[in-house]
Amino acid sequence: MTPHFSLAELTASSTAKRLKLDNTPMPAALENLRQTAEMLERVRAHLGGKPIIVTSGYRGREVNQAVGGATSSDHMSGQAADVVPAVGAAYDMAKALAPHIDALGIGQLIYEASGNSRWVHLSTRKPAKPVNRVITIHVGKGTYLGVQKI
Ligand SMILES: [Zn+2]
Repeated sequence: MTPHFSLAELTASSTAKRLKLDNTPMPAALENLRQTAEMLERVRAHLGGKPIIVTSGYRGREVNQAVGGATSSDHMSGQAADVVPAVGAAYDMAKALAPHIDALGIGQLIYEASGNSRWVHLSTRKPAKPVNRVITIHVGKGTYLGVQKI
């Protein structure tokens, strides 16, 4: 899709593989994914060109359901990707990106934590409420404004 982000990387899903679910995006989602990949290129460049890993990009309805994603998840429309830095902490990545969301074309940034996992959810779509553009979600525990250390 772009120099550092392939369609394969943005549609890969271990859950889809395990459950034998088709995770091929429809044309509209494909176009959204291209814009997501372009946003990720800007993010990568902003972080000094260091590699970032996409842990979850596009998720078809069935795949999204299987992973317990939100029913209105931006992953289903190809407008979001969960990423982690190849080296370093997701928290530091979220902190470095948060002040620059407009310039980077990030509609919403969510620093997420579940158990010992930490990742950054980046969407090209702005949430309905501007206050939700940069938030922290500790799965099962709470949602907080801004990027909070958890
Ligand atoms: Zn996500």
